Amino acid sequence: MDLNEFTAHELLEKLESQEISAESIVLACFEQIERFDKDLNAFITLTKDAALDLSKELDNTFSKDQWGKPLFGIPLGIKDTISTKGIRTTCGSKMLENYVPPYDAKVVELIKTFGMVPLGKMNMDEFAMGSSTESSYFGSTLNPWSLERVPGGSSGGSAAAVASDETIMALGTDTGGSIRCPASFCSVVGLKPTYGLVSRYGLIAYANSLEQIGPITKDVHDAALLLTVIAGYDPKDSTSIDTPEEDYTKYLQDDVSSIKIGVPQEFISEGIEGTDESVIKSVWAAIQKLENLGAVYTELSLPSLKYSLPAYYIIAMSEASSNLARYDGIRYGYRIEKDKAMDETISQNRRIGFGAEVRRRIMLGTYALSAGYYDQYYLKALKVRTIIKQDFEKAFQDVDVLIGPTMPYLSFKIGEKIDDPLAMYLADIYTVSVNLAGVPAISIPCGFENGLPIGLQIIGNSFKEGQILQVAYTFEQNTRYHKQKPDFSKRVLT
Ligand code: GLN
Repeated sequence: MDLNEFTAHELLEKLESQEISAESIVLACFEQIERFDKDLNAFITLTKDAALDLSKELDNTFSKDQWGKPLFGIPLGIKDTISTKGIRTTCGSKMLENYVPPYDAKVVELIKTFGMVPLGKMNMDEFAMGSSTESSYFGSTLNPWSLERVPGGSSGGSAAAVASDETIMALGTDTGGSIRCPASFCSVVGLKPTYGLVSRYGLIAYANSLEQIGPITKDVHDAALLLTVIAGYDPKDSTSIDTPEEDYTKYLQDDVSSIKIGVPQEFISEGIEGTDESVIKSVWAAIQKLENLGAVYTELSLPSLKYSLPAYYIIAMSEASSNLARYDGIRYGYRIEKDKAMDETISQNRRIGFGAEVRRRIMLGTYALSAGYYDQYYLKALKVRTIIKQDFEKAFQDVDVLIGPTMPYLSFKIGEKIDDPLAMYLADIYTVSVNLAGVPAISIPCGFENGLPIGLQIIGNSFKEGQILQVAYTFEQNTRYHKQKPDFSKRVLT
């Protein structure tokens, strides 16, 4: 097995015993990237020299006291919507094609402090808008499990790179499912933390009341390690919540005997139209597995879930229209080299700098916020959001976690939905309510159908990341899905 194929916790043991060096892991990752990423297109920017220099420096300065820190010497990929000082951060957009941030996001500061080694910036849907990574200005990322299919989105580059062993772990962001969706389509683990647990300082905003940065990893243990590194209060993010710091690895217990699982009828028994049989079957099998392992489950109802998709898209687009107003080519972003009147220059810059989906959302969001329509759309969506939150609060009075599918179907073909925005939005049916409620959720591998992965979604109450990690870990310890690897190397398109 090559070093890039191991999990972070396996590599940490090898590093600690001095069996391997940090540099050797970085070299193994770049060997894989150089072989396959021309086809997979998971990275937008590579920072090989910096990664090699840093890993050598870490190797030379390794000392006993460094080993208390989790993930010291472990490489990772960073989604390209997270600011990296001196390294261009494009958001998958022509608008920011040449933008080089003058500062690091808080999470980047943290991973550097902990001695992690960034390999580069990961491909994504433009401004994190999408569920397939097809809207990237830098071209689609391919799904390592089937190269004609999408890796999910918007953090598709992060998930595809983890699944293909180009990196050991990665950071993604999740506004309405963008960590969990690609984790599900690529058979890796993706954790969306509670809103306010991880600092958003330096995360380029799409819909700031919904989004969180989180780990995309090869297994649940690694997700707990990376969450431990990035979680924590940050006074520079006004929505950051001051909770006690935790070592999330303490929840890695193979035991669900005290766990009560809720299965929302709306998710699974009634089944949402368009949900694949194979997904429903795998999710039920997973629930039964957990029951056999000692958990109890009950069916319950979250009646407002059916309104979550329209409420999410109205709120997300409204926030996007406001957040993206700054990209006029004058203060920020792409600027055409033409001598035109100011308003014409701005509208040209935005017409050329943004792709079709981003422009669509800016227009719809502006419409939803406009005088006369605000009450009818935006305000109503906010009220629905409150009701959804209350539904979750009520459910968590009776159960510890909620379980259902992550995605309604398997990864779809590249090109299948990109020209049908509504069909693309429907893919988020099971994920967006979690962001509206602000609660944490994880997607873990739970099956395959025709060689394509299926993801299980475990949702917890606010700040109960520990509980969802415990359930996810127990499931993983008693199954083999996370051990299966895509066999893409023989099928790359070159
Ligand atoms: N697919 C959803 C959207 O397009 C979610 C995106 C995200 O989580 N960043 O808005």
